[in-house]
Amino acid sequence: MSTARQEDTAPQEDTASHVLLGNRFARELPEMAVPWRAEGAPGPRLLRLNEALAAALGLDPAWMRSPEGLRLLVGTSVPGDATPVAQAYAGHQFGGFVPRLGDGRALLLGELVDGHGRLRDLHLKGSGRTPFARGGDGLAAVGPMLREYVVSEAMHALGVPTTRALAVVATGRRVRRETLLPGAVLARVASSHLRVGSFQYAAATGDVGLLRRLADFAIDRHHPAAATTERPYLSLFVAVVAAQAELIARWMLVGFVHGVMNTDNMTISGETIDYGPCAFLDAFDPAAVYSSIDSGGRYAYRNQPLVAEWNLARLAEALLPLIHDDQEQAITLAVESLDTFRPQYADAWSAGMRAKLGLPAGLDDAVGSALIDDVLGLLEQGHVDFTSFFRALGAAARGNAEPARLLFLDLAGFDAWLERWRSLGPDAGAMDRVNPVYIPRNHRVEEALDAATAGDLQPLEQLLDAVTAPYDERPGLERYAAPAPEDFGAYRTFCGT
Ligand code: AMP
Ligand code: MG
Repeated sequence: MSTARQEDTAPQEDTASHVLLGNRFARELPEMAVPWRAEGAPGPRLLRLNEALAAALGLDPAWMRSPEGLRLLVGTSVPGDATPVAQAYAGHQFGGFVPRLGDGRALLLGELVDGHGRLRDLHLKGSGRTPFARGGDGLAAVGPMLREYVVSEAMHALGVPTTRALAVVATGRRVRRETLLPGAVLARVASSHLRVGSFQYAAATGDVGLLRRLADFAIDRHHPAAATTERPYLSLFVAVVAAQAELIARWMLVGFVHGVMNTDNMTISGETIDYGPCAFLDAFDPAAVYSSIDSGGRYAYRNQPLVAEWNLARLAEALLPLIHDDQEQAITLAVESLDTFRPQYADAWSAGMRAKLGLPAGLDDAVGSALIDDVLGLLEQGHVDFTSFFRALGAAARGNAEPARLLFLDLAGFDAWLERWRSLGPDAGAMDRVNPVYIPRNHRVEEALDAATAGDLQPLEQLLDAVTAPYDERPGLERYAAPAPEDFGAYRTFCGT
């Protein structure tokens, strides 16, 4: 990009030089990468380090905790040959196209090679203003960065593809929101930060060479099998459709509501990204919306598959010039591929629901579907807690139906369903492996973040302990399994994080 490199005010101390950070994105896609530096952090203090993830990336956890390690984690000291960049992307935000978004408060520090030889982006969020900051201050507060840490690590433990949280470091700087809040930087790791919006950005430049380079980069990084097919760029699209169909089904199966499924928040890899106003369902409600800015319910729980498909249509549009020289033919091919989203989503969803219900393989499709539809109807009608229900049903499969029955007022309706379900011989052990006990419940997340913001990290540690081993029921953690008390009220999460 043409934006000039920010002046470095002080020479950078090269203390992180043993960390090997590649700069493939910066080198191969310079039109979409603005070399940039993090803002200084007056008093970096580690709030949380993901030691297991650090080790998996070949980073020494003890070094990460050292003053030099912290300087890497806030971006003020990077290896000499690294090229931190702010990435350019576009995006449809709530349906409206914005041609230039980009990392307004984030930096890609570079790529690491993990213990399996895979490339992983090391990325910072809250590291100061960049040329994409528009009106924003470039900063992030402790609460929202820890929120991303908790929810993304919980999602990972639930088996949902996601970016990972490596660390949250308080900067010692205050951030102005409704009030003055302590600032922080989140260090996160992803298989890449390529978004649907990255392709929209490249396409909007009109530079087909750039678009092709971006697509080749994505194929190489995420979907290498596409390279050897007759139509590599169509195959790339097909692979993204498949990854997203699987991802969204997994969200739905754990009751996750992303909250802001703009095209800039949808990855090419199929990982969940950008945890802002997200939340997990408590009472099952297909219309659930948590984001304070989503007044129309565009990103409600039940809309997520439809929105994903809509976003994929935007990706298809961006890829059209690569799919076929003839635009009509390109559209026909893209539409055919997009049409695979619904059946793939439906298959992933019903396979997942059958697993949650412990149903035997080979069960008649119609029987399975009716059981699923009927139980979801009962959950909705009775405002039953989604997560508690499926876990309690495991006990019912072992012969103790009381914990599940206690969740319903309409017992006649539930008992009738229970009898049908029990007659199929559900597998309790299998159910316990897919139905979590602990999810990051909204009231517990708020409690932990409030305490952390006030300086007490203990509730956060305990919450993380629960949600990072979600299937493993442990004494002493009952409060993390229980639904919110009535007086917690209607939950709202806020953007502008
Ligand atoms: P998000 O809602 O976090 O996905 O962000 C949408 C866009 O706004 C992205 O381009 C972000 O980089 C940018 N953005 C969000 N918060 C800030 C901030 N405090 N300062 C600068 N840019 C921001
Ligand atoms: Mg975003």
